[in-house]
Amino acid sequence: MHKILNVALIAHDNKKDTLVNFCIAYEAILSKYGLYATGTTGKRIMDETHLDIHRLASGPLGGDQQIGSLIVNKEIDLVIFLRDPLTAQAHEPDIQALIRLCDVYSVPIATNLASAEIFIRALNDGELNWRLD
Ligand code: PGA
Repeated sequence: MHKILNVALIAHDNKKDTLVNFCIAYEAILSKYGLYATGTTGKRIMDETHLDIHRLASGPLGGDQQIGSLIVNKEIDLVIFLRDPLTAQAHEPDIQALIRLCDVYSVPIATNLASAEIFIRALNDGELNWRLD
């Protein structure tokens, strides 16, 4: 059982700038949590903030499935996944599988910036602390 909450950060290519800016804006909050990200997203965040990220494989190469596996193991407590709704993704089945697992395990998932802002504030206010054992 984990002692800090863990956040997964993923962004499709057209949303990576938005997620990096989100991470800069909320760096002080995010730095208090365990952070996981798919490969390219994680590299961008580490290059442009001081956040320490557990980087997984790139999304199209299985990174979304790795995050799904962490969800199954109850090691992810919040997912911020800025999807690009206007571009077809080769790994769409993996994306759907990740979202499905969030629903199976009741893990909050924000798929756009507006919900991400609400969720990160809720996290900071302790509203996900029930997930700590
Ligand atoms: P990436 O993967 O961070 O390696 O670009 C994200 C995705 O496309 O799912």
